[in-house]
Amino acid sequence: MKAHYDMLIVGGGVIGLSIAYQLSKLGSSVAVFERNRLGCEASSAAAGILGAQAEIDEEGPLLDLAIQSRSMFPSIVEELKEKTNIDVELIKEGLLKVATTEEEAQVLQRKASCHQRWDENVKWLEAKEAQAIEKGLADNIHGAISIPGDGQLAPEKLTQAFAQGALYHHTKIYEYCNVYSLITEKNKVKGIHTSSGTFYGGAVILTTGSWGKELLPNADHLEVFPVKGECVSVRSDKNLLKKTIFLDEGFYLVPKAGGRIVIGATKISHDYTKTVSAKAIQALLEKATRLLPSLSEAEFEKAWAGLRPQTNDGWPYLGPHPTVEGLHMAFGHYRNGILLSAVTGKIIAEAVCESKQNHSFFDSFHFMRTMEGIR
Ligand SMILES: Cc1cc2nc3c(=O)[nH]c(=O)nc-3n(C[C@H](O)[C@H](O)[C@H](O)COP(=O)(O)OP(=O)(O)OC[C@H]3O[C@@H](n4cnc5c(N)ncnc54)[C@H](O)[C@@H]3O)c2cc1C
Repeated sequence: MKAHYDMLIVGGGVIGLSIAYQLSKLGSSVAVFERNRLGCEASSAAAGILGAQAEIDEEGPLLDLAIQSRSMFPSIVEELKEKTNIDVELIKEGLLKVATTEEEAQVLQRKASCHQRWDENVKWLEAKEAQAIEKGLADNIHGAISIPGDGQLAPEKLTQAFAQGALYHHTKIYEYCNVYSLITEKNKVKGIHTSSGTFYGGAVILTTGSWGKELLPNADHLEVFPVKGECVSVRSDKNLLKKTIFLDEGFYLVPKAGGRIVIGATKISHDYTKTVSAKAIQALLEKATRLLPSLSEAEFEKAWAGLRPQTNDGWPYLGPHPTVEGLHMAFGHYRNGILLSAVTGKIIAEAVCESKQNHSFFDSFHFMRTMEGIR
């Protein structure tokens, strides 16, 4: 078994696989180590919303990163389709962020004005205008922001497409391979100890999602924890919805291929279980049918839960470790890891492979930011 690669990636979720794809495309020899199956954690539990503007209202580096990533999807999806034949079902129908009370309408109108400063396509719609676009929306809504730029896709297919794309460029993937520890010498990373033996590499990239802190040296100041999200899906052949419907609190209805609608999600911090409670299913379905009454006629499909990787300040950790040479991080993407996967793969691959260590994004997402009081 080969035991030396240019790059060792720990974690086979959408982030690790996007980085593997980009690195191997640049010509590096890459190995990915996943302790279970590829994409078995957050990356296959997600709803797949590319909600740059729905999710992030504040202007700044996170919104910039999200907008850049969102814009990369049409071409990256095509590129992956050519190489892997996987269709990730990118849907560019836009999104309606709906107000359910007058107070919410006032808040959303202010948010719409902020987005309009740089995106003239964002519009505030009165209730009747929103209902003319989505006929099934309840009578008692109080308007909506229309965000045409936010799309959505099938997250499990995107994860598989990155994996197949990486394999196409000769990445080696080790599933059911637990990484126990890093090998470091004189503040330089040399390799990893795993359940399948020892591997050596010029760089190690930690993409371990909610477990981001486990292998990381000098990380006492840093918090990474799961925020469990429970979801349900229903099916209907009646074409109930075209656009993603989003509420400011983070609740959503996402129309998928084949008449599926994904309804999500709860938020439970520090819970590593993936069970789904009856209470959650009831609450999600009640809220969904209040927004889209015809949904009550749809067929129940399934329920599931996943763990969003959250950090102290809600932003991901991206970039090189400050004191261990060759060690890089890309975890903590919380609610937006599918959206941010495209840009994360690209900037981390460029930094590791082409030594673009001064990538401007790293200033905002670096490891020491919370300690230095930057955020
Ligand atoms: C219910 C829900 C809905 C979501 N909806 C959206 C959405 O609509 N849009 C969006 O953009 N994002 C969404 N997200 C967030 C998104 O899913 C995550 O941000 C993203 O999947 C994180 O990817 P990741 O690769 O960092 O983590 P993960 O997918 O969790 O992958 C990390 C991997 O590392 C592996 N690992 C950990 N430790 C080790 C070790 N020591 N050795 C080997 N392997 C290890 C784990 O087994 C895991 O497979 C949602 C998440 C949830 C839970």
